[in-house]
Amino acid sequence: MAWCCQIVDNKFRQKVIIMEKGVFIAFEGLDGSGSSTQTSMLKDYLAKKGVKNHVTKEPTNNLIGGLIRGALTKEWRASNACFQLLFCADRAHHLDREIMPTLEKGTVVITDRYFFSTIAFGSLDCDVGWLRSLNMPFPVPDIVYLIKVPPEECIKRIGSSRVEFELFEETEKLKKVWQTYERLAAEYPNIHVVDGIRSKEDIHNDIVRIFEEYVVKKQKKL
Ligand code: ADP
Repeated sequence: MAWCCQIVDNKFRQKVIIMEKGVFIAFEGLDGSGSSTQTSMLKDYLAKKGVKNHVTKEPTNNLIGGLIRGALTKEWRASNACFQLLFCADRAHHLDREIMPTLEKGTVVITDRYFFSTIAFGSLDCDVGWLRSLNMPFPVPDIVYLIKVPPEECIKRIGSSRVEFELFEETEKLKKVWQTYERLAAEYPNIHVVDGIRSKEDIHNDIVRIFEEYVVKKQKKL
């Protein structure tokens, strides 16, 4: 597998791929943070500029993604570990079959969620060190947009119909997920935290600015 991790001094080091042609972008955030909205706005922007782009998401619509959706809707029961391993298997297949071949064609690939979601959401039930090591082989995107919206606002946007106690529990869970996201943001320079409590257009303008700055920097390097 072209994207698989390198072993240096017996330690796993996560590989940052600098693609000559394509740009690999991921959107991350709590559910309801607006990642789908911004993915679609960035896609429209690129299309208008005549930039070849491809939008995708995780879990995927492939076979393993289907198993994940089945577990999410409780059609079958997966243990916490099994659930996280499925996300990783889905990602490995996603990279092999879709992301890497598309990047190699010089296309901008935008994925709505990637391995940061597995670490952040998985941290509720699984050991973070284990989740990190599982995800270590996967390439780090060129740009990761982490949209910051407080849990209370996310729940409001999703329109949750849960009762008060469940809402409190949900909010507490999302706060923990966000803490893990913030730790990741402090470690990965490619993560850009974007303030998501603004108009969709203002957020989009920030996203475009970051993308354009990245392209200019990359052109200087190549
Ligand atoms: P996600 O994909 O992160 O779950 P969505 O993009 O589906 O989030 O957005 C969730 C809801 O919030 C949608 O109803 C969407 O229209 C709304 N929304 C998205 N961005 C904003 C924003 N900046 N301000 C207010 N509402 C927003």
